Amino acid sequence: MTDPRRLQGVGVSPGVGFAPAMVVHWGFPDVRDRTVEEDEIEAEVGRLHGAVQEAVDSLEALRERVLVRAGVEESRIFEAQILMVQDPDFLAGVEVLIRENQLSAETAYEFKALELRNLWASSGSAQLRERLADLTAIQRRVVLRLMGQTEREPWSGTLDEQVIVVAHELSPGLTVQLDREHVVGLVSEEGTRTSHAAILAHSLGIPAVMGVAGAIQRVRSGQMILLDGRTGAIILDPTRSELEEAKTRLHRRHRLQLKLEAGLLEPAVTPDGRTVSLRGNVDLPEEIEPAVRHGADGVGLLRTEFLLTGRAVVPTETEQTDYFRRVAQAFPNQPIVVRTFDLGGDKFPAAFEAPIEANPFLGWRSIRVCLDHPEIFRPQLRAILRAAVGRDIRMMLPLITRVDEVEQVRRLVDEERAALRADGQDVADEVPIGVMIETPAAVVLADRLAAVSDFFSIGTNDLTQYTLVVDRGNARLADRFRTEHPAILRQLRTVQQAAAAQGIPVSVCGEMASDPLSAVLLLGLGFVELSVAPPALPLLKLVVRSVPLSVAEAAARLALEADTSEEVREILRSAVGGHLDVALLDPAGALPAYRAPTSIPAR
Ligand code: PEP
Ligand code: MG
Repeated sequence: MTDPRRLQGVGVSPGVGFAPAMVVHWGFPDVRDRTVEEDEIEAEVGRLHGAVQEAVDSLEALRERVLVRAGVEESRIFEAQILMVQDPDFLAGVEVLIRENQLSAETAYEFKALELRNLWASSGSAQLRERLADLTAIQRRVVLRLMGQTEREPWSGTLDEQVIVVAHELSPGLTVQLDREHVVGLVSEEGTRTSHAAILAHSLGIPAVMGVAGAIQRVRSGQMILLDGRTGAIILDPTRSELEEAKTRLHRRHRLQLKLEAGLLEPAVTPDGRTVSLRGNVDLPEEIEPAVRHGADGVGLLRTEFLLTGRAVVPTETEQTDYFRRVAQAFPNQPIVVRTFDLGGDKFPAAFEAPIEANPFLGWRSIRVCLDHPEIFRPQLRAILRAAVGRDIRMMLPLITRVDEVEQVRRLVDEERAALRADGQDVADEVPIGVMIETPAAVVLADRLAAVSDFFSIGTNDLTQYTLVVDRGNARLADRFRTEHPAILRQLRTVQQAAAAQGIPVSVCGEMASDPLSAVLLLGLGFVELSVAPPALPLLKLVVRSVPLSVAEAAARLALEADTSEEVREILRSAVGGHLDVALLDPAGALPAYRAPTSIPAR
């Protein structure tokens, strides 16, 4: 029987918290239906715009606060919220209700707000569902003002006791107001690693567990909670020995941290002499420096979507060229793998009119969007060709499912190279063009794709999502998102063999590579180029330097015979056990490596 004192969620911000719970019922206020006289209509419209402006001002203040407390990228969350609260289409709809139905501003606003929330909730789009917390938060801001109430959070007074906040859902605005001195942990029923509230909790250093089903019902205010923001484990009313155990774990992690820092300058070579390339995944310019600091051997995945997010115009070719050169400069003589725009699914930028689709992850996204929009794609290809002069810059294509997609890109690249030359521009003669293997179709076609590709890189995030039919952002399915699933292992082997047969390099750049046990499996399967989020590099290097390749290979052979993910993990645990403290490595509470763009999804 399951222990009623234990709850399990997804660890989204590492650290251990221990304090009494503060259960917060943070919801939408009850709005009384009210009509107005005809001669009051203009005043109501004025009140609406006044309240929106006040909400904008308060969001602006939050944005500045976040800028100081967390950083530029986090502050963009509020830039997007400011745009959302000013959405002219939405406000025009509210105005129509005030004018035509003589509704009070708060009644009309609440009516339209509910309509929009329902639309997002039922849209089938993971991106819209994920941003529902942001939408609710900004609407609540406006409605409270229209009702003449001020926004007071439960902790905005003087909290002199430490607490762990437990809520159904946490909005970014709420999270950023938390005082780390007093709020020592967060628990929410909704939310995933890529929720804005999770990203902020992580930046603010507050341990947090999200996706905890039934938390509000199971936890009483005042009840003692012990949470581990790395493993996602929560214990209610912990015993003395459970507390001691948590403390010991913290100490061991601290010791490990010191060991990791000491290993930063050591080469990534296995004890039996195999050199492994450990590269960094860079999503934002701010991550270039951490990637260098954590000893990355170049950039194995340079995500470029940020160039488009939150902007009204597509970046120019020169702006992109400069950015690629800047990244290359930070890693002299090391490869930079630029991934072309991977739009759609969970990342549609504000600069783009995104269609509403029932299944965006199965929809018009990624290479499909680029091939349909050469006016966006061609400048990026030109920028890569120009930046690659005298530098090891490579081009990588996301979400490939067909051989002709690669051939089409090659034709575009040839055309742009010729056009640049005709213009008298300096361009690279050879830019390796590689393919991301992140769909089952690409795995099945790996031998054919290898013939038209200069390299492969396996995107295990999407490959796992598409193979196991598990939405990568769905908290309820987090437990089913298993990169060690036998179906994934077999595909990894297929791709590795196809690349070896064609003699092209193959790397892994999905999150799987940042999980220490999975990294051993990947090494054993023959992958000696791994690319991970920069903070994961030190631990990955420790794993490489501690576990002999022969041990990893033997474990991979056994793992390929296993029937379940659990068996695979058990095999890896016992293989690694003799070389590293497995208790610290498993389960790996990987940090949010990819920050979802903060644009407003199109409605
Ligand atoms: C992947 O899918 O594994 C990957 C690396 O790409 P992204 O996470 O950006 O979709
Ligand atoms: Mg992907």
